[in-house]
Amino acid sequence: MLIVVHGGIYVEEIPEIADALKKACLIGSEILQKKEAVDAVEEAVKVLEDDPRLDAGTGSYPNLLGEIEMSASIMKDDLSGGGVAAIKNIKNPISVARGVMEQTKHVLLVGEGANLFAKLLGFEPYNPVTELTVTTLRKAIEIAAEEKNSIYHYYLERARLRLQSLELGTVGSVAIDRTRRKAAATSTGGIEMQLPGRVGDSPLIGLGNFAGEWGAVSMTGAGEGIIKLGLARKIADWMEACDAQSAVDRGMALAKKHKVVCGAIALSYRGEMGIGNNGGKISYAYWRDGMKEPCTYKDSQ
Ligand code: ASP
Repeated sequence: MLIVVHGGIYVEEIPEIADALKKACLIGSEILQKKEAVDAVEEAVKVLEDDPRLDAGTGSYPNLLGEIEMSASIMKDDLSGGGVAAIKNIKNPISVARGVMEQTKHVLLVGEGANLFAKLLGFEPYNPVTELTVTTLRKAIEIAAEEKNSIYHYYLERARLRLQSLELGTVGSVAIDRTRRKAAATSTGGIEMQLPGRVGDSPLIGLGNFAGEWGAVSMTGAGEGIIKLGLARKIADWMEACDAQSAVDRGMALAKKHKVVCGAIALSYRGEMGIGNNGGKISYAYWRDGMKEPCTYKDSQ
């Protein structure tokens, strides 16, 4: 049994989030003792979505209209998977993604359709805006003001208005259970200054999140580049022939060659773990059977 979680990559220092990662990993590890890998990654990601310091669920980055659009996906190694993109006013997008996986014939629902589906499943409306959302939006407005592309100025004016009325790092997990079933889950509020409707890699099976025969992978970082390179799927497939860390390193090197700054957590069918990034710093925690408590990125610094 093994569970790994991440709380995104950071350009400079990782903020104080080790406690959140440890908690998510601990809850995931407890679930792994009794249930399946997919239950462990969902619950671990929910803990991270609920933490306002992380860019998923509560605390998600607002887009340039000041709205929060979240995306998430979940996958099992039998290739069942589901995702939601640009969903609004939901506490735990990862659980709606699981609903898509288990209760529809589709792999991805977006926007209003995703919200309608969540409503039909009984998810209550929830406001994920926090103080940090407001600060982030203010900063985005300042940056957008200097942007030469006139499209950004269109959004800028609307974002300013939205800011007046507001009251007030992407996460992921991979796990392997007692019977060697593997699962991956990834959830995000997107990136700073994203245009409304922008969707990154996180809800896309095979790109930001993947579980298959050889392993499970959750990505973080520059979503557009991760999509173009199809990284989660590549790293997972490479684990057929090499260990998890080598597969992650290879993915990071490929991304670096294309100037895509990103990070990944992975585990293979053999039960090894791989964690890597090719710029900034990646925040993570992991637990495997035999360990008293999870280890975080802080313990290995
Ligand atoms: N990959 C996410 C996205 O592009 C962002 C992140 O991982 O920080 O939406």
